Amino acid sequence: MSELPFGAGARGIGMTSQRTRDRMIARLREKGIRDETVLAAMASVPRHLFVDEALASRAYEDSALPIGFEQTISQPFVVARMLAELRDGRPLGRVLEVGTGCGYQAAVLAQVASEVYSIERIAGLLERARANLRALRLANLRLVHGDGARGLPDAAPFDGIVVAAASPKASELLLQQLAVGGRMIAPLGAEEQALCLIERTTKGFTEKWLDAVRFVPLRAGKQ
Ligand code: SAH
Repeated sequence: MSELPFGAGARGIGMTSQRTRDRMIARLREKGIRDETVLAAMASVPRHLFVDEALASRAYEDSALPIGFEQTISQPFVVARMLAELRDGRPLGRVLEVGTGCGYQAAVLAQVASEVYSIERIAGLLERARANLRALRLANLRLVHGDGARGLPDAAPFDGIVVAAASPKASELLLQQLAVGGRMIAPLGAEEQALCLIERTTKGFTEKWLDAVRFVPLRAGKQ
């Protein structure tokens, strides 16, 4: 993992300091997150830089926060849980994230995977994510404007796919872009949602249901 140039230049001190971030990590541990690689990545990414300045003091609470365009930044526990399940203790190669939002999870992913593609359907949000991510200089992260439910056939196959918006069923197009041995994690369900971990094997797909969650809906088309 690379050393990141965040510390000194990051906005503000106090509620946005490394110590505050470390407390968030301690809470994630208490809630059962054991993947040290994911925890180290989350300890290094300054989540407060991904939310509006007025919300920066709340950036390390374990909650989702608004990021504009009626979307939210995912709750830290859910980010940790998704990435730990995706990794399953192994290094990740090429990963696709559907739903860049403000770019926070993409920044964490870029610490734990060798190559990351993140796709967002709302152009204005993608621009914001680009601005949030600029200072972090993540050379292995590519942002794409498009409909993530269709995946990125040109960059497939992926070792991992993380979907950050909910749909009633898993997208067939996304499943087809998984490498054999690859895993996809997505919030699925119509009324009630839960995280579903799907693995592609030589014989087909296996699925495992995890925590109940609440994500914004996956929508078709670009905006
Ligand atoms: N990953 C973000 C959370 C994003 S919220 C984080 O780090 O906190 C979910 C995002 O998915 C929203 O920005 C929404 O616009 C986007 N989204 C919804 N449907 C999509 C689609 N079909 N393709 C790409 N992005 C989509």
